[in-house]
Amino acid sequence: MFFPDSNSSAKLGRRVIKNVYYFEESPMLDCNQFILVNNDTGELTLFDSGNGLSLKGLFDGMGNLGLLYQKITNIYLTHEHVDHVLGLYPIIEILKKNPPTIHAFGETAKILREGNESKIFPGNLGISPEMFGLKIIPLDIVDLKLDEVIRIGSDFTFKVYHTPGHSHGSVSYYEETNKILIPGDLVFTGGSFGRYDFPGGSLDSLINSIKFVNDLDVKYLLPGHMNISDNGNQQVDYSYKMVQSIKSFF
Ligand SMILES: [Zn+2]
Repeated sequence: MFFPDSNSSAKLGRRVIKNVYYFEESPMLDCNQFILVNNDTGELTLFDSGNGLSLKGLFDGMGNLGLLYQKITNIYLTHEHVDHVLGLYPIIEILKKNPPTIHAFGETAKILREGNESKIFPGNLGISPEMFGLKIIPLDIVDLKLDEVIRIGSDFTFKVYHTPGHSHGSVSYYEETNKILIPGDLVFTGGSFGRYDFPGGSLDSLINSIKFVNDLDVKYLLPGHMNISDNGNQQVDYSYKMVQSIKSFF
């Protein structure tokens, strides 16, 4: 297997701040992706793997910005949904000489390690691995610990927080010095927030998790879908108000 069939062009990418790059989701069941550069080693860390079909587009988009995909040594996942994890399968195949270490939390790590197709593709979604040109196999996953510290060069020190509500295995990555939040599908820009009607979702947990990240000092909000923002505190607060207003209907 090389790149799954794909007619996608290069993913639109841009520098957010020094050594942080954003690659926009492709239109079909994909997610935003972020590349961070280790300023000491030049190695690259990828946040979320996308849907696999968009992988060539990511690599092309990276190339346009002078980032070599062969330098990806670590992948961190925000949660277990297909639009965030399917890219892992072609990535490990393409980089098999020097496979990146994959990090995930709790349920996300468990599902990927088991390689259980029905858990990665819940029946109610009406999609299958074949539609993505993939075969689901058990993967080597390193478990993230709660409050684990991730250092990427001397620029970035992320902390991992469990922020369930959208799914069981959802985590948010927070970098205090540069005030970066990578919340997966917990909060989005424009007052949006993650769906809580998938298996493992819970509105109460979602509200608690958004409340938690709303207490962090965030400038760069880098969510799993839609736009990113450099006005993070205001954006997260907007989502928090919106999700609370939903709750008041019940
Ligand atoms: Zn999701």
